[in-house]
Amino acid sequence: MTSSRDQIPSARRIVVKVGSSSVSGANVGQIGMLVDALASAHARGSEVILVSSGAIATGIPFLKLDARPTDLATQQAAAAVGQNVLIYRYQESLDRYAIVAGQILLTAGDMENPTHRSNAQRAMERLLGLRILPIVNENDTVATQEIRFGDNDRLAAMVSLLVGADVLVLLSDIDALYTRPPGEPGAERIDVVPFDDELTEVTFGDIGAAGVGTGGAGTKVAAAKLAAAAGIPTLLAATESVADALSGAPLGTWFEAAAL
Ligand code: GLU
Repeated sequence: MTSSRDQIPSARRIVVKVGSSSVSGANVGQIGMLVDALASAHARGSEVILVSSGAIATGIPFLKLDARPTDLATQQAAAAVGQNVLIYRYQESLDRYAIVAGQILLTAGDMENPTHRSNAQRAMERLLGLRILPIVNENDTVATQEIRFGDNDRLAAMVSLLVGADVLVLLSDIDALYTRPPGEPGAERIDVVPFDDELTEVTFGDIGAAGVGTGGAGTKVAAAKLAAAAGIPTLLAATESVADALSGAPLGTWFEAAAL
C-alpha cells in the first residue's frame, strides 16, 4: 500500500484521471505534458492507466456547435465524435515514446455486473502485461452517469479497485481540496485527509470551475472515499502539476486509505 505521496514514484500500478477542461479547448496543448509525465512513470516500470474525460468537449467543434449542447442525444453524439479525436491526440503524443494506447469504454454498471467486470479485468490485465497504456472513458452511448453527474471520478475509483491500483491520482483545474470553493475568502488548502475524516469543515461548490466539465470537489471526495475504503490512497492535484505529482512532490490533497 502507498501510505504517502513520496511512495508514488515506486507505485506498481497507478490510475490517473483527468477532467475534460484539462485536455480540450484552450488546454488541448496540455495533452503533451500529461503524456510526458505518464510516459516517465511508464519508463520507470509503473503500470499506468489513464481515465480521461473530454470526449464531448473535444467533439463540440466538429459538430459545428459553439457551446456544449444541452440535450442528452446531442451530447452523446458529440462524445461519439470527440472520443475518436481524443484518443487520436493521445496516441499521436504517445508515439513520441513508442507507447501504444488501448481504448476502454466502460460504465459504472459494468463494474457492478460480474461478467462484464471480469471481462474488463481480464482485458485490462492483458493490456498492462503487454505494456500498453489503457485509456478509459465512460461509454457514453449506453451510459450517461458522467454527462449527468460529472462522475468519471467515480468511474476512476471503480477502475482503481478493478485493477488493484496502489494509488489514484485525480487531476483537474483545481490544485487541491479547499475548506471552501477556491477563490472564496477564507478558503484554505487541505494537505492530508485522514481515513474516515467526514470533512465536516468543508463547504462544496456546485460544479467544476471551467464550464466544459461537469465534476467538482464533491465527486472527487466521493471517489477518494470509495478508493480509500478499498485501501487505495488518492492524490488530488492540478493537471499542470502532473509531473511533480507523479514524482511524489508535496502538493495537492492526499487522502489516506484504510489500512487493510
Ligand atoms: N464521458 C464524457 C466525456 O468524456 C462526459 C464528460 C462530460 O459530461 O463533460 O466527454
